[in-house]
Amino acid sequence: MSKFTQDKIVNYLKNYGFVFPCSEIYNGLANAWDYGPVGVLLKNNLKALWWSYFVTGQRNMVGLDSSILLNPDVWKASGHLSSFTDPLIDCKACKQRFRVDKLILSLYPDLKINEKTSFNDLLKIIKDKHITCPSCKKFAWTEIRNFNLMFQTYQGVVNDKKSVLYLRPETAQGIFINFVNIQRSLHLKVPFGVGQIGKAFRNEITPGNFIFRTREFEQMEIEFFCYPKDSEKSFEVWLEKIKGFLYKHLMFSKTNIKLHEHAKADLSHYSSRTIDIEYNFPHGWSELWGLANRTDFDLLSHEKYSKKTLAYLDPKTNKRFIPYVIEPSVGVERLLYALICEKYAIEKVGNDEREVLHLPYALCPYKVAVLPLSNKLEKQANKIFEQILKANLSCAFDITGSIGKRYRRQDAIGTMYCLTYDFDSDKDHCVTIRNRDSMKQERIKISEIIAYLNKANK
Ligand code: ATP
Repeated sequence: MSKFTQDKIVNYLKNYGFVFPCSEIYNGLANAWDYGPVGVLLKNNLKALWWSYFVTGQRNMVGLDSSILLNPDVWKASGHLSSFTDPLIDCKACKQRFRVDKLILSLYPDLKINEKTSFNDLLKIIKDKHITCPSCKKFAWTEIRNFNLMFQTYQGVVNDKKSVLYLRPETAQGIFINFVNIQRSLHLKVPFGVGQIGKAFRNEITPGNFIFRTREFEQMEIEFFCYPKDSEKSFEVWLEKIKGFLYKHLMFSKTNIKLHEHAKADLSHYSSRTIDIEYNFPHGWSELWGLANRTDFDLLSHEKYSKKTLAYLDPKTNKRFIPYVIEPSVGVERLLYALICEKYAIEKVGNDEREVLHLPYALCPYKVAVLPLSNKLEKQANKIFEQILKANLSCAFDITGSIGKRYRRQDAIGTMYCLTYDFDSDKDHCVTIRNRDSMKQERIKISEIIAYLNKANK
């Protein structure tokens, strides 16, 4: 289990301006969260790091920003209209609704059930094990039925069948339907991939576990188009890239990550191989990142429904074929949550304790904080603050409370360095720089601050 409870993490993130409950002054909106001043910096840094590692940092990758609202035929072709469903059961006594498979697995995690388990078999388990309602403890279940997870809305002024649209439940389909545009406009040769970061919406039956499962979230997805014969090798390459990102860039500990290979019988309709990269969250081991070989399912299906050819003309053989697709997909908030669990620590400092977030430099919401030792030194310290902002480094300025308390606050939000401007600084033109992790302090020249920061984090 992870070091801290979910409640501990939620309170910490709220207190320090990372994540607030959504619509709190109106008693909140269940399972919706807002990202505060520190949270938005961290989230943006995480997305930027993902983008630079997986998209601009790879020679055969490009990016895309496709629409959230798509022609509803897209969802027919992708199978979402018919099968993006979860098995739903209602408690007749208290009217609470549950996703049956998750309800059973929360009590019997070792039972072999998955999205292909029939409603009859699920109901039999509920009856045999006499599973009662977690909310009112009664045994008064309805039949199980399918519940489509797509949010429906209407386009234009008339709310009729013809104007129905859906909020996308994944960003992937925007990439598939643009495959030909992307390939032709840049004359790309297979293999190549397309990365996209964007909002997705799922009307989850049982959201929860803080930001782990919400109805509105962001995905960072890649669709990598390759020759069918190379798809298995490509799958392994992407698995290694994900591991590289988690272990080398985010510095995750290997003990908190495990791989869950889906059995052949459990694979989704579009997949020939799937691995879930799981993280040891406070609520237990759960999927963090999905990696799937989607074969040629999506492009073939869009070809069939749109009646447009989506085949790629192989310049070597002059023959057309539909590429296979490898898809690494991760939720921004899920990764952020795992990252916080991984990096948050409470450490002993002498007789005291400090909360600290050991983020890698690239992710720190503030790289550095400027702390004038006294109010009298504010003007001079402000000049340094301006100098750092001009250098395009995210910087905090804190003048409230004792210097010790200010160090603690910056440690808790992951600021890598604190610069203290004291009474000697006027004379020696130096400041004290303190490192978040080692807490070591050294004296450096004000004129060399930017060079120091750049050099230390190469
Ligand atoms: P789960 O089994 O947890 O519902 P999934 O297999 O349906 O996830 P995918 O459709 O593969 O998930 O989505 C890819 C990634 O998007 C997931 O690995 C996860 O990181 C993220 N994700 C999916 N659903 C949610 C959600 N409701 N809230 C937050 N992130 C999500």
